[in-house]
Amino acid sequence: MLDKPRHFVYDYGNMGTVTGTVLSGSNNVFDIECDEEGADASSGPHIRSCTLKSKRLNTDSKNYNPLAPGDRVEVETDELDEQKGQILSLLPRKNKFVRWNVKGRSPQILAANIDNMLLVTTPDEPPFRARFIDRELAQAERQGITPIILVNKYDLPASQDVDFQERLSIWQDIGYRVLRVSAKTGEGMTELASLLQNKLSAFVGQSGVGKSSLVNVLDSACVLRTGSLSQKYGRGTHTTTKGSLLHIHLNESLVDGLSNVYASIIDTPGVRRFVLHDIESNDLALYFREMRPLIGTCTYGMSCTHMSETGCKILEAVYAGAISEDRYDSWKRIAEEIRTGSWSD
Ligand code: GDP
Repeated sequence: MLDKPRHFVYDYGNMGTVTGTVLSGSNNVFDIECDEEGADASSGPHIRSCTLKSKRLNTDSKNYNPLAPGDRVEVETDELDEQKGQILSLLPRKNKFVRWNVKGRSPQILAANIDNMLLVTTPDEPPFRARFIDRELAQAERQGITPIILVNKYDLPASQDVDFQERLSIWQDIGYRVLRVSAKTGEGMTELASLLQNKLSAFVGQSGVGKSSLVNVLDSACVLRTGSLSQKYGRGTHTTTKGSLLHIHLNESLVDGLSNVYASIIDTPGVRRFVLHDIESNDLALYFREMRPLIGTCTYGMSCTHMSETGCKILEAVYAGAISEDRYDSWKRIAEEIRTGSWSD
């Protein structure tokens, strides 16, 4: 939970060093929420605009972005300007969610140290794309994160389509939680609020799925521009391509009339294509959770490609209806995308 300032690292041997959380960043300047109580508590968290002390830090320099919203860092404060500082080091990450950034030709960390990962989708507007979600699910599994599928715009008639409902059931049957909500009608918003409270949650999805609208309903004091990301408590310039962490004050009506219930949200940049990172096509089945237990049990053992071999336990499970044909088809297509490097939308 990151919604409150935490301990203040400050001693004689370490003068002027504080820990903090990355809210956002662009062009290697990061807004860091420092873990220090201001002289005036009502002034809110102390946010410093920080550059990297060493270009490399202890992060992986091959990344598109060295730091992501949610990262914990150590900052050297600027003696002359309390709005500024320099980032000395990255503290160990609990987890991170990554995708391959095609333009940048490098892995991009979308969020770090999260408690919840919400894959936001819609029955329509933009059109439902099951394979997009399957890719995100596989990447989350690769990162050891258990994602939740958040279907927004459940008020739209397309939410009742049989094929759409069936796809949601398939994900539920293999153990993923699916939340159905509508920022427009308020359906499901209480359940969403209870999931988010006192937690750090990342919202991932295509632009237009309603991430900003959801945040605006969760916190009525929040007025995010719909269709883009803005930030309520941070400062500086924030663009839709970077993502940022914001603290919201959950609407009392969504949390049993309680006041002062908070949540921290990382609004990640709207992604048009989700390209997997650090998954070989031969290993993809490991990240399809219904396939994973069968790997190695085929007649040809680990060399089975699960495409046509007799004695393939995965194919047998598909024929028997224990693995959905849709998911198997998704696995096949995504494995092909990895193999050929050609990704569809
Ligand atoms: P973002 O790009 O993911 O932040 O999406 P926005 O919040 O900007 O929403 C995109 C569009 O979807 C806007 O026109 C919203 O009014 C609309 N929208 C958002 N949530 C809902 C919903 O629950 N139902 C319907 N019908 N429209 C919604």
